[in-house]
Amino acid sequence: MMDYHIHTRLCGHASGEVEDYIEAAINAGLDEIGFSDHAPLPEKLRSGITMCPHETETYLERLYNARQVYSDRIDVKMGFEVDFPLFDSFDPAYFDDPRLDYLIGSCHFIDDWPFDHPDYIDEFSRRDINQVYEHYFSIMGEMASCGLFQVAGHFDLVKKFGHRATRDFFKTIEDIAQIMAKNDMAAEINTAGLRKPVGEIYPSENILRIFFDQNVPVTLGSDAHSPGEVAYMFDKTLQTLRNAGYRNISGFTKKKRYTIPI
Ligand SMILES: [Zn+2]
Ligand SMILES: [Zn+2]
Repeated sequence: MMDYHIHTRLCGHASGEVEDYIEAAINAGLDEIGFSDHAPLPEKLRSGITMCPHETETYLERLYNARQVYSDRIDVKMGFEVDFPLFDSFDPAYFDDPRLDYLIGSCHFIDDWPFDHPDYIDEFSRRDINQVYEHYFSIMGEMASCGLFQVAGHFDLVKKFGHRATRDFFKTIEDIAQIMAKNDMAAEINTAGLRKPVGEIYPSENILRIFFDQNVPVTLGSDAHSPGEVAYMFDKTLQTLRNAGYRNISGFTKKKRYTIPI
């Protein structure tokens, strides 16, 4: 089993060294741990959120070294969680970097509103919630279409604080699922939602069933920002995946997808 969504101290809001996360993963019985720290945002947005552009190589070197040290105990995968729409603060050369095993595409901003940041939660009460969802999913649809990512991060993050659309988005999500399946893009099953006000995984079980029906592969991540969060609630989540119909989960090596049974 793997945990493919791990942050590091470099982002400014996570604690613990790379080695601490790896030890936690070994203790949890994982075969793989994938690091996907936040790719650099522009200077005006990144304080306490992402590493700086000049730190990307430091990050990759740390992972590469840890991979060698731990090679006989666990497989260390190298990735980034990249904001979509894209910012030019992340060097586009990384999209073709042969060292990277996967890239997670995530949406944390609607226009310039960091909607998942607790400091900006009031904005939800100023906006039409259905328009917020529509805008969010249009960004996710564009991300699925662009073909740059192996994994779609926390697919319904917009629900994080418990704000629910009153309109049905089944058709919108089904359309995106079809694009993902066509592009062989996996949906991340992210257990961080279980620790947030919404109290459920990303994506919801309803969306998971749409993904299964449309043959969208899945991968698994805790979105750990501290070593204690590695593999958070994975046993329960694997059961949720099986209930949705899934019998395997996907991993990536140098952007090549493979499956393991669950
Ligand atoms: Zn983070
Ligand atoms: Zn994220």
